[in-house]
Amino acid sequence: MNLANLLLRQALQQPDRSAIYNGTVPHASYGQWAARSAGLARRLIEAGLVPGDRVLLFMRNHPRYLEILFGAWWAGLSVVPVNAKLHTLEVEWIIQNAGARWGFVTSDVAPAALGGLERQIDIESGEADALLAPMTDFSKQPLVERDQDSLAWLFYTSGTTGRPKGVMITQRNLMTMGLTYFVDVDVVSSDDAIVYGAPMSHGAGLYAIPHLMAGARHVVPASGGVDPAELFELGRAIGPLSTFAAPTIVKRLVDYAEDAGLTQQDAAASFKTIVYGGAPMYVADIARALRVMGPRFVQIYGQGETPMVATALSRQHLTDTAHPRYRERIASVGVAQTPVQLRVSDERGVALPCGEVGEVLVKGDSVMAGYWENPKASAAAIQDGWLFTGDVGSLDVDGFLTLKDRSKDLIISGGSNIYPREVEEALLTAPGVAEAAVVGAADAEWGEVVVAFVVLQSGASVTEQDLDQHCLQAIARFKRPKQYRFVDELPKNNYGKVLKTALRERLGIQPRN
Ligand code: AMP
Repeated sequence: MNLANLLLRQALQQPDRSAIYNGTVPHASYGQWAARSAGLARRLIEAGLVPGDRVLLFMRNHPRYLEILFGAWWAGLSVVPVNAKLHTLEVEWIIQNAGARWGFVTSDVAPAALGGLERQIDIESGEADALLAPMTDFSKQPLVERDQDSLAWLFYTSGTTGRPKGVMITQRNLMTMGLTYFVDVDVVSSDDAIVYGAPMSHGAGLYAIPHLMAGARHVVPASGGVDPAELFELGRAIGPLSTFAAPTIVKRLVDYAEDAGLTQQDAAASFKTIVYGGAPMYVADIARALRVMGPRFVQIYGQGETPMVATALSRQHLTDTAHPRYRERIASVGVAQTPVQLRVSDERGVALPCGEVGEVLVKGDSVMAGYWENPKASAAAIQDGWLFTGDVGSLDVDGFLTLKDRSKDLIISGGSNIYPREVEEALLTAPGVAEAAVVGAADAEWGEVVVAFVVLQSGASVTEQDLDQHCLQAIARFKRPKQYRFVDELPKNNYGKVLKTALRERLGIQPRN
Protein backbone atom coordinates (compact mmCIF):
# COMPACT_ATOMS: atom_id res chain seq x y z
CA MET A 1 0.00 0.00 0.00
CA ASN A 2 1.16 3.52 -0.74
CA LEU A 3 -0.99 6.65 -0.54
CA ALA A 4 0.91 8.06 -3.52
CA ASN A 5 -0.99 5.50 -5.59
CA LEU A 6 -3.98 7.85 -5.26
CA LEU A 7 -2.01 10.44 -7.23
CA LEU A 8 -0.72 7.93 -9.76
CA ARG A 9 -4.19 6.63 -10.61
CA GLN A 10 -5.59 10.13 -11.15
CA ALA A 11 -2.58 11.16 -13.23
CA LEU A 12 -3.01 8.10 -15.45
CA GLN A 13 -6.74 8.68 -15.87
CA GLN A 14 -6.77 12.44 -16.38
CA PRO A 15 -3.23 13.77 -16.89
CA ASP A 16 -4.32 17.06 -18.44
CA ARG A 17 -6.91 17.99 -15.88
CA SER A 18 -6.07 20.96 -13.66
CA ALA A 19 -5.10 19.73 -10.22
CA ILE A 20 -3.35 22.47 -8.23
CA TYR A 21 -3.92 26.22 -8.32
CA ASN A 22 -1.93 29.05 -6.83
CA GLY A 23 -4.79 31.48 -6.28
CA THR A 24 -6.53 31.60 -9.65
CA VAL A 25 -3.36 30.63 -11.53
CA PRO A 26 -3.06 26.98 -12.56
CA HIS A 27 0.05 25.49 -10.93
CA ALA A 28 -0.09 21.85 -12.07
CA SER A 29 -2.25 19.40 -13.97
CA TYR A 30 -2.58 15.91 -12.50
CA GLY A 31 0.10 14.72 -14.94
CA GLN A 32 2.48 17.51 -13.92
CA TRP A 33 1.84 16.88 -10.23
CA ALA A 34 2.64 13.18 -10.60
CA ALA A 35 5.69 13.97 -12.75
CA ARG A 36 7.11 16.29 -10.08
CA SER A 37 6.30 13.98 -7.17
CA ALA A 38 7.79 10.98 -9.02
CA GLY A 39 10.88 13.04 -9.87
CA LEU A 40 11.28 14.03 -6.24
CA ALA A 41 10.80 10.42 -5.13
CA ARG A 42 13.57 9.26 -7.45
CA ARG A 43 15.98 11.94 -6.17
CA LEU A 44 15.16 11.27 -2.53
CA ILE A 45 15.95 7.59 -3.06
CA GLU A 46 19.11 8.39 -5.03
CA ALA A 47 20.23 10.64 -2.18
CA GLY A 48 20.08 7.70 0.20
CA LEU A 49 16.79 8.20 2.03
CA VAL A 50 15.27 4.82 2.80
CA PRO A 51 11.69 3.69 3.46
CA GLY A 52 10.42 4.91 6.81
CA ASP A 53 12.87 7.84 7.01
CA ARG A 54 11.22 11.04 8.19
CA VAL A 55 11.14 14.31 6.27
CA LEU A 56 9.95 17.53 7.83
CA LEU A 57 7.53 19.98 6.19
CA PHE A 58 7.79 23.39 7.85
CA MET A 59 6.19 25.96 5.62
CA ARG A 60 3.31 28.27 4.98
CA ASN A 61 0.55 26.89 2.77
CA HIS A 62 2.08 26.49 -0.66
CA PRO A 63 1.17 24.62 -3.87
CA ARG A 64 4.43 22.70 -3.64
CA TYR A 65 3.36 21.30 -0.27
CA LEU A 66 1.21 18.75 -2.08
CA GLU A 67 3.94 17.81 -4.57
CA ILE A 68 6.45 17.25 -1.78
CA LEU A 69 4.03 15.35 0.44
CA PHE A 70 3.15 12.87 -2.29
CA GLY A 71 6.75 12.72 -3.53
CA ALA A 72 7.89 11.70 -0.06
CA TRP A 73 5.17 9.05 0.16
CA TRP A 74 6.03 7.84 -3.35
CA ALA A 75 9.55 7.16 -2.04
CA GLY A 76 8.15 5.30 0.99
CA LEU A 77 9.08 8.04 3.46
CA SER A 78 7.10 9.35 6.42
CA VAL A 79 6.22 13.01 6.69
CA VAL A 80 6.45 15.22 9.78
CA PRO A 81 4.14 18.22 9.25
CA VAL A 82 5.03 21.13 11.51
CA ASN A 83 2.89 24.05 12.58
CA ALA A 84 4.35 27.09 10.80
CA LYS A 85 4.00 29.22 13.93
CA LEU A 86 6.35 27.15 16.09
CA HIS A 87 9.48 28.67 17.57
CA THR A 88 12.82 27.49 16.14
CA LEU A 89 13.68 25.73 19.39
CA GLU A 90 10.38 23.85 19.34
CA VAL A 91 10.94 22.74 15.74
CA GLU A 92 14.49 21.67 16.52
CA TRP A 93 13.14 19.59 19.37
CA ILE A 94 10.72 17.89 16.96
CA ILE A 95 13.50 17.29 14.40
CA GLN A 96 15.56 15.61 17.06
CA ASN A 97 12.69 13.62 18.56
CA ALA A 98 11.43 12.42 15.16
CA GLY A 99 14.94 11.83 13.83
CA ALA A 100 13.93 13.80 10.74
CA ARG A 101 16.66 13.73 8.07
CA TRP A 102 15.58 16.31 5.51
CA GLY A 103 13.40 19.38 5.92
CA PHE A 104 11.42 21.27 3.28
CA VAL A 105 10.72 24.85 4.36
CA THR A 106 9.62 28.27 3.19
CA SER A 107 12.05 31.01 4.12
CA ASP A 108 9.38 33.18 5.78
CA VAL A 109 8.75 30.38 8.28
CA ALA A 110 12.34 29.14 8.61
CA PRO A 111 14.66 32.04 7.77
CA ALA A 112 17.76 30.33 9.22
CA ALA A 113 19.26 26.86 9.27
CA LEU A 114 17.46 24.49 11.63
CA GLY A 115 19.69 22.39 13.84
CA GLY A 116 19.56 18.64 13.41
CA LEU A 117 18.67 18.34 9.72
CA GLU A 118 21.01 16.72 7.21
CA ARG A 119 19.61 18.93 4.50
CA GLN A 120 17.23 21.88 4.51
CA ILE A 121 15.56 22.85 1.25
CA ASP A 122 13.86 26.16 0.66
CA ILE A 123 10.99 25.05 -1.55
CA GLU A 124 11.14 28.28 -3.56
CA SER A 125 14.84 27.85 -4.44
CA GLY A 126 16.61 26.50 -7.50
CA GLU A 127 17.59 23.51 -5.39
CA ALA A 128 13.89 22.66 -4.96
CA ASP A 129 13.28 23.19 -8.69
CA ALA A 130 15.95 20.61 -9.41
CA LEU A 131 14.56 18.12 -6.88
CA LEU A 132 11.05 18.54 -8.29
CA ALA A 133 12.10 18.55 -11.95
CA PRO A 134 9.36 16.56 -13.69
CA MET A 135 9.79 12.95 -14.62
CA THR A 136 7.37 12.78 -17.53
CA ASP A 137 7.29 8.97 -17.60
CA PHE A 138 6.20 9.04 -13.94
CA SER A 139 4.57 5.63 -14.10
CA LYS A 140 8.07 4.16 -14.50
CA GLN A 141 9.05 5.35 -11.01
CA PRO A 142 7.96 2.47 -8.76
CA LEU A 143 5.89 3.29 -5.71
CA VAL A 144 7.83 2.04 -2.73
CA GLU A 145 5.62 -0.61 -1.18
CA ARG A 146 4.59 0.12 2.41
CA ASP A 147 2.75 -1.93 4.95
CA GLN A 148 -0.69 -0.53 5.68
CA ASP A 149 0.31 -0.07 9.31
CA SER A 150 3.48 1.80 8.43
CA LEU A 151 3.98 5.40 9.46
CA ALA A 152 2.74 7.96 6.94
CA TRP A 153 2.31 11.13 8.98
CA LEU A 154 4.02 11.91 12.28
CA PHE A 155 1.93 14.69 13.75
CA TYR A 156 3.12 16.47 16.88
CA THR A 157 0.31 17.35 19.27
CA SER A 158 0.10 20.94 20.34
CA GLY A 159 0.66 19.85 23.97
CA THR A 160 -0.40 22.57 26.41
CA THR A 161 2.14 21.40 28.97
CA GLY A 162 5.42 19.57 28.64
CA ARG A 163 6.81 18.36 25.35
CA PRO A 164 4.51 17.53 22.43
CA LYS A 165 4.08 13.86 21.53
CA GLY A 166 4.50 12.47 18.01
CA VAL A 167 1.23 10.87 16.93
CA MET A 168 1.91 7.95 14.57
CA ILE A 169 -0.65 8.08 11.77
CA THR A 170 -0.44 5.15 9.39
CA GLN A 171 -1.18 4.64 5.70
CA ARG A 172 -4.35 2.80 6.73
CA ASN A 173 -5.48 5.63 9.03
CA LEU A 174 -5.28 8.13 6.19
CA MET A 175 -6.91 5.84 3.65
CA THR A 176 -9.79 5.35 6.11
CA MET A 177 -10.04 9.10 6.72
CA GLY A 178 -10.16 9.80 2.99
CA LEU A 179 -12.85 7.24 2.15
CA THR A 180 -14.93 8.20 5.16
CA TYR A 181 -15.23 11.76 3.90
CA PHE A 182 -17.55 10.59 1.11
CA VAL A 183 -19.87 8.75 3.46
CA ASP A 184 -20.00 11.06 6.44
CA VAL A 185 -19.02 14.51 5.22
CA ASP A 186 -19.69 15.21 1.57
CA VAL A 187 -19.95 13.87 -1.96
CA VAL A 188 -17.07 15.12 -4.13
CA SER A 189 -16.77 15.17 -7.92
CA SER A 190 -13.83 16.02 -10.15
CA ASP A 191 -15.44 19.41 -10.84
CA ASP A 192 -15.14 20.37 -7.19
CA ALA A 193 -12.32 22.37 -5.62
CA ILE A 194 -10.91 22.44 -2.12
CA VAL A 195 -9.23 25.57 -0.82
CA TYR A 196 -6.49 25.45 1.83
CA GLY A 197 -6.99 28.48 4.05
CA ALA A 198 -6.24 26.86 7.41
CA PRO A 199 -2.72 25.40 7.86
CA MET A 200 -2.03 22.39 5.65
CA SER A 201 0.08 20.87 8.43
CA HIS A 202 -3.14 20.02 10.25
CA GLY A 203 -6.55 18.59 9.31
CA ALA A 204 -7.15 21.06 6.49
CA GLY A 205 -4.20 19.60 4.60
CA LEU A 206 -5.34 16.02 5.22
CA TYR A 207 -8.49 16.77 3.26
CA ALA A 208 -6.24 16.77 0.20
CA ILE A 209 -6.64 12.98 0.35
CA PRO A 210 -10.40 12.67 -0.33
CA HIS A 211 -10.16 15.44 -2.92
CA LEU A 212 -7.35 13.60 -4.63
CA MET A 213 -9.35 10.36 -4.47
CA ALA A 214 -12.11 12.19 -6.36
CA GLY A 215 -9.76 13.90 -8.83
CA ALA A 216 -10.92 17.34 -7.69
CA ARG A 217 -8.94 20.60 -7.81
CA HIS A 218 -6.72 21.85 -4.99
CA VAL A 219 -6.44 25.58 -4.46
CA VAL A 220 -3.89 27.38 -2.30
CA PRO A 221 -4.93 31.02 -1.84
CA ALA A 222 -2.31 33.47 -3.07
CA SER A 223 -2.08 34.89 0.48
CA GLY A 224 -1.39 31.37 1.82
CA GLY A 225 -3.93 31.95 4.59
CA VAL A 226 -7.43 33.05 5.43
CA ASP A 227 -8.53 36.36 3.97
CA PRO A 228 -12.34 36.23 3.70
CA ALA A 229 -12.52 38.70 0.80
CA GLU A 230 -9.93 36.71 -1.12
CA LEU A 231 -11.71 33.39 -0.48
CA PHE A 232 -15.13 34.68 -1.55
CA GLU A 233 -13.55 36.11 -4.71
CA LEU A 234 -11.59 32.92 -5.40
CA GLY A 235 -14.79 30.87 -5.19
CA ARG A 236 -16.53 33.17 -7.65
CA ALA A 237 -13.59 32.87 -10.04
CA ILE A 238 -12.92 29.10 -9.88
CA GLY A 239 -16.27 27.69 -8.79
CA PRO A 240 -17.71 26.96 -5.34
CA LEU A 241 -15.01 25.89 -2.91
CA SER A 242 -14.97 23.37 -0.11
CA THR A 243 -12.77 24.00 2.86
CA PHE A 244 -11.99 23.00 6.42
CA ALA A 245 -12.28 25.83 8.91
CA ALA A 246 -11.97 26.16 12.66
CA PRO A 247 -14.98 27.93 14.23
CA THR A 248 -13.02 31.19 14.47
CA ILE A 249 -12.47 31.13 10.71
CA VAL A 250 -16.13 30.37 10.10
CA LYS A 251 -16.92 33.40 12.17
CA ARG A 252 -14.67 35.60 10.06
CA LEU A 253 -16.28 34.34 6.86
CA VAL A 254 -19.75 34.99 8.24
CA ASP A 255 -18.79 38.46 9.50
CA TYR A 256 -17.47 39.28 6.06
CA ALA A 257 -20.59 37.99 4.28
CA GLU A 258 -22.82 39.96 6.61
CA ASP A 259 -20.81 43.19 6.40
CA ALA A 260 -20.65 42.94 2.60
CA GLY A 261 -24.44 42.38 2.47
CA LEU A 262 -24.05 39.03 0.67
CA THR A 263 -27.08 36.79 0.24
CA GLN A 264 -27.16 33.01 0.71
CA GLN A 265 -27.03 32.75 -3.11
CA ASP A 266 -23.85 34.82 -3.12
CA ALA A 267 -22.39 32.53 -0.47
CA ALA A 268 -23.37 29.51 -2.57
CA ALA A 269 -21.51 30.95 -5.55
CA SER A 270 -18.29 30.99 -3.51
CA PHE A 271 -18.59 27.99 -1.19
CA LYS A 272 -19.91 24.49 -1.67
CA THR A 273 -19.13 23.04 1.76
CA ILE A 274 -17.48 24.43 4.85
CA VAL A 275 -16.43 21.67 7.21
CA TYR A 276 -15.91 23.01 10.69
CA GLY A 277 -14.31 21.45 13.74
CA GLY A 278 -11.18 21.46 15.83
CA ALA A 279 -12.74 23.53 18.61
CA PRO A 280 -16.22 24.16 20.03
CA MET A 281 -18.77 25.77 17.73
CA TYR A 282 -21.32 27.58 19.86
CA VAL A 283 -25.02 27.35 19.04
CA ALA A 284 -25.36 31.12 18.57
CA ASP A 285 -22.50 31.06 16.06
CA ILE A 286 -23.63 28.12 13.92
CA ALA A 287 -27.20 29.44 13.90
CA ARG A 288 -25.95 32.77 12.56
CA ALA A 289 -23.65 31.04 10.05
CA LEU A 290 -26.56 29.02 8.66
CA ARG A 291 -28.76 32.11 8.54
CA VAL A 292 -26.19 34.21 6.71
CA MET A 293 -24.53 31.65 4.45
CA GLY A 294 -27.18 28.94 4.06
CA PRO A 295 -26.93 25.14 4.25
CA ARG A 296 -23.26 24.72 3.43
CA PHE A 297 -21.90 23.49 6.74
CA VAL A 298 -20.89 20.07 8.09
CA GLN A 299 -19.24 19.57 11.46
CA ILE A 300 -16.59 17.02 12.28
CA TYR A 301 -14.98 16.14 15.57
CA GLY A 302 -11.64 14.38 15.65
CA GLN A 303 -8.18 14.84 17.09
CA GLY A 304 -4.60 14.28 16.03
CA GLU A 305 -4.88 10.74 17.41
CA THR A 306 -7.87 9.93 15.15
CA PRO A 307 -7.52 12.58 12.48
CA MET A 308 -10.78 14.10 11.24
CA VAL A 309 -12.65 10.93 12.16
CA ALA A 310 -14.69 10.52 15.33
CA THR A 311 -18.11 12.09 14.77
CA ALA A 312 -19.87 14.19 12.14
CA LEU A 313 -22.92 16.43 12.19
CA SER A 314 -24.21 16.31 8.63
CA ARG A 315 -25.64 19.05 6.45
CA GLN A 316 -28.97 17.31 6.84
CA HIS A 317 -28.81 17.36 10.64
CA LEU A 318 -27.79 21.01 10.58
CA THR A 319 -30.75 22.00 8.45
CA ASP A 320 -33.48 19.78 9.90
CA THR A 321 -34.93 22.70 11.87
CA ALA A 322 -38.25 20.90 12.37
CA HIS A 323 -36.65 18.15 14.44
CA PRO A 324 -37.86 18.34 18.07
CA ARG A 325 -34.29 18.16 19.36
CA TYR A 326 -32.80 20.45 16.69
CA ARG A 327 -31.26 22.82 19.20
CA GLU A 328 -29.57 20.01 21.14
CA ARG A 329 -28.35 18.51 17.90
CA ILE A 330 -26.66 21.64 16.62
CA ALA A 331 -25.01 21.97 20.02
CA SER A 332 -23.65 18.43 19.59
CA VAL A 333 -20.81 17.13 17.43
CA GLY A 334 -23.13 14.63 15.72
CA VAL A 335 -22.92 10.88 15.44
CA ALA A 336 -20.03 8.41 15.11
CA GLN A 337 -18.45 8.45 11.66
CA THR A 338 -18.87 5.19 9.77
CA PRO A 339 -15.55 3.43 10.51
CA VAL A 340 -15.52 4.00 14.26
CA GLN A 341 -17.31 2.95 17.42
CA LEU A 342 -17.88 5.54 20.08
CA ARG A 343 -18.25 5.15 23.81
CA VAL A 344 -18.64 7.45 26.77
CA SER A 345 -17.00 5.74 29.69
CA ASP A 346 -15.92 5.97 33.28
CA GLU A 347 -12.21 6.17 34.08
CA ARG A 348 -11.85 2.37 33.71
CA GLY A 349 -13.25 2.43 30.18
CA VAL A 350 -16.64 0.94 31.13
CA ALA A 351 -19.47 2.32 29.00
CA LEU A 352 -21.86 4.67 30.79
CA PRO A 353 -25.61 4.85 30.14
CA CYS A 354 -27.02 7.47 27.74
CA GLY A 355 -27.05 10.95 29.17
CA GLU A 356 -24.21 10.40 31.63
CA VAL A 357 -21.06 12.44 31.29
CA GLY A 358 -17.74 10.68 30.92
CA GLU A 359 -14.62 10.41 28.78
CA VAL A 360 -15.10 9.93 25.05
CA LEU A 361 -13.51 6.76 23.64
CA VAL A 362 -13.07 5.95 19.96
CA LYS A 363 -12.18 2.64 18.29
CA GLY A 364 -11.57 1.92 14.63
CA ASP A 365 -9.24 2.12 11.64
CA SER A 366 -8.66 5.85 11.97
CA VAL A 367 -7.05 5.52 15.40
CA MET A 368 -3.29 6.14 15.55
CA ALA A 369 -0.76 3.35 16.00
CA GLY A 370 0.52 5.06 19.17
CA TYR A 371 2.92 7.82 20.21
CA TRP A 372 6.37 7.89 18.66
CA GLU A 373 8.93 6.20 20.90
CA ASN A 374 6.66 6.61 23.89
CA PRO A 375 5.21 3.21 24.83
CA LYS A 376 4.06 4.47 28.23
CA ALA A 377 1.92 7.26 26.79
CA SER A 378 0.67 4.91 24.03
CA ALA A 379 -0.44 2.31 26.56
CA ALA A 380 -2.27 4.95 28.56
CA ALA A 381 -4.01 6.38 25.48
CA ILE A 382 -5.10 3.13 23.81
CA GLN A 383 -6.54 0.27 25.81
CA ASP A 384 -8.15 -2.76 24.13
CA GLY A 385 -8.12 -0.76 20.91
CA TRP A 386 -10.10 2.10 22.48
CA LEU A 387 -8.55 5.55 22.23
CA PHE A 388 -9.05 7.63 25.37
CA THR A 389 -9.52 11.07 23.83
CA GLY A 390 -9.33 13.18 26.99
CA ASP A 391 -12.57 14.84 25.88
CA VAL A 392 -15.59 14.72 28.13
CA GLY A 393 -19.13 14.39 26.84
CA SER A 394 -22.39 12.48 26.79
CA LEU A 395 -24.34 10.46 24.24
CA ASP A 396 -28.08 10.77 23.70
CA VAL A 397 -30.41 7.92 22.77
CA ASP A 398 -30.00 8.63 19.05
CA GLY A 399 -26.20 8.43 19.27
CA PHE A 400 -25.47 12.17 19.17
CA LEU A 401 -22.41 13.13 21.16
CA THR A 402 -22.33 16.42 23.05
CA LEU A 403 -18.87 17.49 24.15
CA LYS A 404 -18.47 19.27 27.41
CA ASP A 405 -14.80 20.16 27.50
CA ARG A 406 -11.36 18.68 27.77
CA SER A 407 -11.26 17.05 31.20
CA LYS A 408 -8.43 19.38 32.23
CA ASP A 409 -10.60 22.45 31.54
CA LEU A 410 -13.32 21.37 33.94
CA ILE A 411 -13.89 23.86 36.77
CA ILE A 412 -14.75 22.58 40.22
CA SER A 413 -16.34 25.28 42.32
CA GLY A 414 -17.75 24.61 45.76
CA GLY A 415 -17.61 20.89 44.93
CA SER A 416 -19.76 21.25 41.80
CA ASN A 417 -18.55 20.54 38.29
CA ILE A 418 -18.85 23.41 35.86
CA TYR A 419 -18.14 22.85 32.19
CA PRO A 420 -16.80 26.09 30.71
CA ARG A 421 -18.59 25.43 27.45
CA GLU A 422 -22.04 25.80 29.06
CA VAL A 423 -21.08 29.17 30.48
CA GLU A 424 -19.54 30.25 27.17
CA GLU A 425 -22.69 29.20 25.28
CA ALA A 426 -24.76 31.35 27.66
CA LEU A 427 -22.49 34.39 27.40
CA LEU A 428 -22.52 34.23 23.62
CA THR A 429 -26.27 34.72 23.54
CA ALA A 430 -25.94 38.03 25.42
CA PRO A 431 -26.39 41.11 23.22
CA GLY A 432 -23.09 42.73 22.33
CA VAL A 433 -20.86 39.71 23.05
CA ALA A 434 -18.63 38.60 20.18
CA GLU A 435 -16.47 35.95 21.87
CA ALA A 436 -16.17 34.41 25.31
CA ALA A 437 -13.81 31.97 27.02
CA VAL A 438 -14.16 30.73 30.55
CA VAL A 439 -11.50 29.33 32.90
CA GLY A 440 -11.29 28.50 36.58
CA ALA A 441 -9.24 30.64 38.98
CA ALA A 442 -8.09 29.38 42.34
CA ASP A 443 -10.21 30.69 45.21
CA ALA A 444 -9.76 30.20 48.94
CA GLU A 445 -13.47 29.86 49.62
CA TRP A 446 -14.76 27.94 46.59
CA GLY A 447 -11.69 26.01 45.44
CA GLU A 448 -12.13 27.55 42.02
CA VAL A 449 -14.30 30.33 40.65
CA VAL A 450 -15.44 30.97 37.12
CA VAL A 451 -13.65 33.79 35.30
CA ALA A 452 -14.93 34.91 31.91
CA PHE A 453 -12.82 36.61 29.27
CA VAL A 454 -15.17 38.50 26.97
CA VAL A 455 -14.64 40.20 23.61
CA LEU A 456 -17.39 42.68 22.79
CA GLN A 457 -18.77 43.43 19.35
CA SER A 458 -17.36 46.69 18.08
CA GLY A 459 -19.28 49.66 19.43
CA ALA A 460 -21.16 47.58 22.02
CA SER A 461 -21.29 48.81 25.57
CA VAL A 462 -21.94 45.97 27.95
CA THR A 463 -21.28 45.89 31.67
CA GLU A 464 -20.48 43.10 34.10
CA GLN A 465 -23.95 43.61 35.58
CA ASP A 466 -25.58 43.13 32.17
CA LEU A 467 -23.75 39.84 31.71
CA ASP A 468 -24.52 38.70 35.23
CA GLN A 469 -28.23 39.39 34.67
CA HIS A 470 -28.09 37.55 31.39
CA CYS A 471 -26.42 34.49 32.94
CA LEU A 472 -29.04 34.40 35.68
CA GLN A 473 -31.66 33.93 32.96
CA ALA A 474 -29.73 31.18 31.21
CA ILE A 475 -27.73 29.00 33.62
CA ALA A 476 -27.64 27.86 37.24
CA ARG A 477 -26.52 30.56 39.70
CA PHE A 478 -23.40 28.69 40.78
CA LYS A 479 -22.13 28.53 37.19
CA ARG A 480 -22.14 32.31 36.74
CA PRO A 481 -18.76 33.95 36.29
CA LYS A 482 -17.58 35.61 39.48
CA GLN A 483 -15.19 37.81 37.53
CA TYR A 484 -15.17 39.32 34.07
CA ARG A 485 -12.20 40.46 32.01
CA PHE A 486 -13.06 42.49 28.93
CA VAL A 487 -10.35 41.96 26.31
CA ASP A 488 -9.78 43.02 22.69
CA GLU A 489 -9.12 39.48 21.53
CA LEU A 490 -8.67 35.95 22.81
CA PRO A 491 -5.29 34.24 22.49
CA LYS A 492 -5.52 31.50 19.83
CA ASN A 493 -3.10 29.06 18.30
CA ASN A 494 -2.38 28.72 14.60
CA TYR A 495 -5.28 26.29 14.24
CA GLY A 496 -7.81 28.69 15.76
CA LYS A 497 -8.09 27.09 19.19
CA VAL A 498 -8.47 29.41 22.15
CA LEU A 499 -5.44 28.96 24.40
CA LYS A 500 -6.96 28.45 27.82
CA THR A 501 -3.51 27.89 29.26
CA ALA A 502 -2.57 31.42 28.21
CA LEU A 503 -5.74 32.75 29.86
CA ARG A 504 -4.93 30.90 33.06
CA GLU A 505 -1.42 32.32 32.94
CA ARG A 506 -2.88 35.81 32.80
CA LEU A 507 -4.61 34.98 36.05
CA GLY A 508 -1.31 33.78 37.47
CA ILE A 509 -2.39 30.13 37.47
CA GLN A 510 0.17 27.40 36.90
CA PRO A 511 -0.34 25.14 33.85
CA ARG A 512 -2.21 21.93 34.58
CA ASN A 513 -1.11 18.49 33.51
P1 AMP B 1 -6.04 18.41 17.74
O1 AMP B 1 -5.47 17.11 18.16
O2 AMP B 1 -5.10 19.55 17.77
O3 AMP B 1 -6.75 18.28 16.42
O4 AMP B 1 -7.18 18.80 18.81
C1 AMP B 1 -8.23 17.92 19.01
C2 AMP B 1 -9.15 18.44 20.07
O5 AMP B 1 -9.90 19.58 19.60
C3 AMP B 1 -10.20 17.42 20.45
O6 AMP B 1 -9.72 16.47 21.36
C4 AMP B 1 -11.30 18.30 21.02
O7 AMP B 1 -11.00 18.69 22.35
C5 AMP B 1 -11.22 19.53 20.13
N1 AMP B 1 -12.19 19.42 19.03
C6 AMP B 1 -12.00 18.88 17.82
N2 AMP B 1 -13.12 18.94 17.07
C7 AMP B 1 -14.06 19.55 17.84
C8 AMP B 1 -15.43 19.90 17.66
N3 AMP B 1 -16.07 19.67 16.51
N4 AMP B 1 -16.07 20.49 18.71
C9 AMP B 1 -15.43 20.73 19.87
N5 AMP B 1 -14.15 20.45 20.10
C10 AMP B 1 -13.46 19.84 19.11
